[in-house]
Amino acid sequence: MKSVHLVKNLLTRNHPLHAQWFITRKCNYRCKSCNVWKTQDSNEIDIIKVKEGLDELRKLGVVDLTFTGGNPLLREDIDEILKYASKYFVTTIYDNGSMAYKKIDALKYADYVAISLDTLDKNKQNYLSGIEDSFEQKKKSIKELVKNRIPVAISSTISSLTCYDVIRMIERYGKFFSFNISLFQEDPEETQFKIGEKVRELETKDKKKMAKTFERLIQLKKSGYNILLPEKVLKIVKNYFEKDERSWECKALDNFLTIDHLGNVSGCHLKKPVTNVSELRKFWYSDKAGRIREENRKCKGCMYLCYIDYSLPFRLHTETVYAGVKSILREFTLIK
Ligand code: SF4
Ligand code: SF4
Repeated sequence: MKSVHLVKNLLTRNHPLHAQWFITRKCNYRCKSCNVWKTQDSNEIDIIKVKEGLDELRKLGVVDLTFTGGNPLLREDIDEILKYASKYFVTTIYDNGSMAYKKIDALKYADYVAISLDTLDKNKQNYLSGIEDSFEQKKKSIKELVKNRIPVAISSTISSLTCYDVIRMIERYGKFFSFNISLFQEDPEETQFKIGEKVRELETKDKKKMAKTFERLIQLKKSGYNILLPEKVLKIVKNYFEKDERSWECKALDNFLTIDHLGNVSGCHLKKPVTNVSELRKFWYSDKAGRIREENRKCKGCMYLCYIDYSLPFRLHTETVYAGVKSILREFTLIK
């Protein structure tokens, strides 16, 4: 039962709360900042193995699960995966906007659907996505999700090319939609999933501009605009751009973990696999896992905002808690 699972695991320690599953390496977009579409792989573990992996995550105590890719909605069995996952986890799924409006029935199982959108400038968005009508597709998906009362989070990446666009979008729509912010990574040490791509025009080398962007995000957050990241993360990043100081300790393979499309588990998507999801619990409490955790704490390999967020002590998105409470009420048929 989801309610029992959530309450029990929120009250206990010594297990990860968050998992990100890159469930497919297939994608129908050609985003400038991404390497996935250039190195697609049609191999992926089948539904039986996915369910085994989900059972393993459940038994380990994960409460907050995100499906990403590639585009997870390109998996033909995504309905079954979402249905199974949503029985226990607060479940979020990413879409580039091309599929959600066609998959509404499957998405009714998700707690959140994150649609990527970096700007309201149609031409710029199409350029960034590498697809001619991506802006229209994204708009259509968002509308259809809203119409079907499925919670949407707009997922926006801040880069030197989009920072003002993201701010403008939040100023305009941040009271109606939740915004999930990412930061374009200059030069991530990509050793495992090979997702990021070096793109000079997106680089965030202008540190003053970035500090100003994060200062504005902090103001917007304080004024009640719906930015999913906590103020603390926004301050950490602003501080980083102002003083070149990393003031957090990474909790990869401790508070959170990632899984690739073949079921390989890593602390984060930049680190080498350490085990397979079907054997996760056995590995989790081993000495080797403890040593890797220690190494990760000292790592300075990236600035992914979600990983900073997950690294803060006992951090759950307000949205996760809200979705959890909703599930509990639903189970007790207090709401439909
Ligand atoms: S960023 Fe996402 S949507 Fe764009 S190519 Fe990469 S996997 Fe596909
Ligand atoms: S800082 Fe953490 S999330 Fe980033 S590469 Fe290092 S271990 Fe991974």
